[in-house]
Amino acid sequence: MLDHFRQTGALLEGHFELSSGLHSDRYLQCALVLSEPRRAEALARAFAERLETDVDVVVGPAMGAVVWAQEIGRALDRRAMFTERSGGEMTLRRGFRFETGERCLVVEDVLTTGGSAKEALEVVRAHGGLPVAVGSIINRSGGNPFEDEELPLTCLAEVEVQVWEPDVCPLCAAGGAAVKPGSRTALAGGGA
Ligand SMILES: [Zn+2]
Repeated sequence: MLDHFRQTGALLEGHFELSSGLHSDRYLQCALVLSEPRRAEALARAFAERLETDVDVVVGPAMGAVVWAQEIGRALDRRAMFTERSGGEMTLRRGFRFETGERCLVVEDVLTTGGSAKEALEVVRAHGGLPVAVGSIINRSGGNPFEDEELPLTCLAEVEVQVWEPDVCPLCAAGGAAVKPGSRTALAGGGA
């Protein structure tokens, strides 16, 4: 599974400076693996096989999960929609709607804290849908952030990413320089 990520440079291993200023030993960019439709299709099929819940519709928060939700919708032969931010609020637009009680799968590409998925779950409920499951390609959360809501979580891989404040970063202490993901340096060394 992670080979798809390494081969497309979507999982970088090394020493990175994140946009938050923190340093990390890995960097995930799911958009890269999903940019190759055959890989996206294969991942979505694998996900559909693992999913143990019947759903009527797939919903992902934009931007990260738009393509992923679409691919799962294709694999399951179900409608796929996305929520999006408008003035900071997660919303449902573009004429998307749910039948009352329609069983809904909410997906993210990479699940870190599950924050965006939780906002999407609220949007689904507010529009009459019934969230019955959550899913992601990669789970970084170390568990199921939706346990309290009794929603099962389906993921294709668990990936641990270590992050540090720069002043306590062991990779800096070892003498290495952090690179910004997406920079030439990171891409040249990426996919290892
Ligand atoms: Zn560092």
